Amino acid sequence: MRQLKIVLAGNPNSGKTSVFNALTGSSQEVGNWPGVTVEKKVGTFFIDGCNVEVTDLPGIYSLSSYSQDEQIARDYLLAGGFDLAVVVIDASNLERNLYLAIQLLELGIDLILCLNMMDLALQKGLAIRRNTISRILEVPVVRTVANQSNGIELLMREIIRSDRKKPDFRIDYSEEIESMLESLNRMHPENCRLPARFLSLKILEGDPFFTCLLEPEFKEQVTQIAGEFEKKYDEELEVLIAERRYAYIHGLVRESVRKRSNLRARMDLSEKIDNVVLNRFLAIPIFLFVMWLTFQLVFALGGPLAGFVGHAVESIKIFVSTRLSSLLPKIMVSFVCDGILSGVGSVVIFLPNLFVLFLAIAVLEDSGYMSRSAFVMDRFMHFLGLHGKSFIPLILGFGCSIPGIMACRTLETRKDRVVTIMVVPLMSCAARLPIYTLFASVFFPGRAGTVVFGLYLTGVLLAVITAKMFQKFFFKEETSPLIMELPPYHVPYWPNVFRYALTRSAMFLKKAGTIIMAGVAVIWLLASLPAGVEFASQNSLIGRLGSGLSPLLSPAGFGSWQAAVSLLFGVLAKEVVVGTLGTLLQAGNLQESLRLLFTPLSAMSFMLMSLIYVPCVATIAVIRQEIGWRWAAFSVVYTTVLGWLVAVTAFQAGTWISG
Ligand code: GDP
Ligand code: MG
Repeated sequence: MRQLKIVLAGNPNSGKTSVFNALTGSSQEVGNWPGVTVEKKVGTFFIDGCNVEVTDLPGIYSLSSYSQDEQIARDYLLAGGFDLAVVVIDASNLERNLYLAIQLLELGIDLILCLNMMDLALQKGLAIRRNTISRILEVPVVRTVANQSNGIELLMREIIRSDRKKPDFRIDYSEEIESMLESLNRMHPENCRLPARFLSLKILEGDPFFTCLLEPEFKEQVTQIAGEFEKKYDEELEVLIAERRYAYIHGLVRESVRKRSNLRARMDLSEKIDNVVLNRFLAIPIFLFVMWLTFQLVFALGGPLAGFVGHAVESIKIFVSTRLSSLLPKIMVSFVCDGILSGVGSVVIFLPNLFVLFLAIAVLEDSGYMSRSAFVMDRFMHFLGLHGKSFIPLILGFGCSIPGIMACRTLETRKDRVVTIMVVPLMSCAARLPIYTLFASVFFPGRAGTVVFGLYLTGVLLAVITAKMFQKFFFKEETSPLIMELPPYHVPYWPNVFRYALTRSAMFLKKAGTIIMAGVAVIWLLASLPAGVEFASQNSLIGRLGSGLSPLLSPAGFGSWQAAVSLLFGVLAKEVVVGTLGTLLQAGNLQESLRLLFTPLSAMSFMLMSLIYVPCVATIAVIRQEIGWRWAAFSVVYTTVLGWLVAVTAFQAGTWISG
């Protein structure tokens, strides 16, 4: 059987992962912003007796790369361990996207151009002549709309074609640069497998990564030649070379693209929306309103459904306990009903709320609004001393801290990465929503959406203060400038929106069936021991553990031992806070039991504590992996202390105000 190894390369946000998913039938995360794919991913597809291994890379703009995810892509492409590169191009932004393609052609690798986002190009009124591009560049060109799997079959067939001829590509860089290239070619290191002309160009561009490959004695020579040239023309070589490439591309685009003005209406619409949404006075109120609306929806739509699931869980419990009590010993029945069903059930009933949240996130993301939110926040982020790009990991943190932290790989300076990673856990993740939902619906019915919105805002506010503080204490360098990109708005593509929400929901259920279940099983055990003790009483092991901890928490208003252990076990996963309370307080009248343990004020401080205190173990592990165990440990200490301080302050202030 024929084996092929191909790689997907292209600018961020050009649709590489969408092409990857369409080719291999997998469902890697896609998002309408740069930096979703930060690691390379491998998949396969099979067609006509040919087995093709596909690698998806993080996006890059050129082969001179700086951030960590970009380096992964550059190194992979330079190493050349593949048969063919599919260069995914956003056809609605042809000029900018072709820059990378041109460099890959200069690198002399076999490639196919995949003009993706043809739908957007059409909306912009662009008529792109595929054959002209193909003829000029001497490479195959395929058109796709990857998020709808259009053109993917054609792309597959093009990939496995074996009669492709080797492109012979070169741009003429003016006489003097050419002669410098000539002399550089003679210095080509013997053991280097990069094409001589490509390497020489990169060295003239002054890219240190490539200059290092030269023999030391040549290095000086090059600096000298380049220095003389730059002095003579008073212009940097790097700029001149880039200009030449852009001029070439500009010519190519003129030859092959026609603009039909009557189709511009859609683009104008995007601009009109932006005039309002990005207006300097309206932008932040609109952003806050969108967030507020999201949580209203989470409760308005999710609430009734959650009630329905709650009844279902309750009926299952009654059914199981009546059936089992005749078959199994009492202790087993208690394990199944009091432990597993009450604990896991009390978490699972929030699935509808989460589902609505996931849907809302997916819609905001796919429509292009999310990347705008980053733009809106850009000035604000600079005020914090962070790069505007840092806002994207923070937004991702609303779903789950882990992808948020991973996305920090797109940040260029270590300072930005560390500070952003440290504040991502303060962005309230979806796992915390069940806690808020439970407490808000018991203690603040009717205003639940607003209360939760307030909690999220508090998290953001604390993140801001923390970022500013860490920045001041730990780092001194300047911030890097930013070019944010604004992808055009599009009506969300519903199949993808639902797929995203379903995948996330499935992940939540899987978590319920594994780590949350394990958590509540341990809690049940600790609540049943030592033998003979009354289940979940203060004399049980867990009761004693909680009683030991609770004095620490009573200044915050929730000094019951149940609250203490639920927070303790919540470190496994934040949902376990609810699972623990469900097991210990018996889900049946969980709401009643909560009213005995908490007042509205202490419920509020408990929610604040849950928002802020220690990230879950999985998050801690990822922080360690990304920036080392010292920062991970620091994050644990910092968030615990901060959470405690905020909860205590809120409770004491509330008590004082209410006299
Ligand atoms: P990557 O950063 O290159 O991996 O890009 P993604 O695959 O994550 O896609 C970026 C965004 O563009 C997502 O919102 C996709 O749903 C969307 N997208 C991908 N391909 C197309 C396409 O052909 N047409 C349109 N309209 N959107 C697309
Ligand atoms: Mg991607």
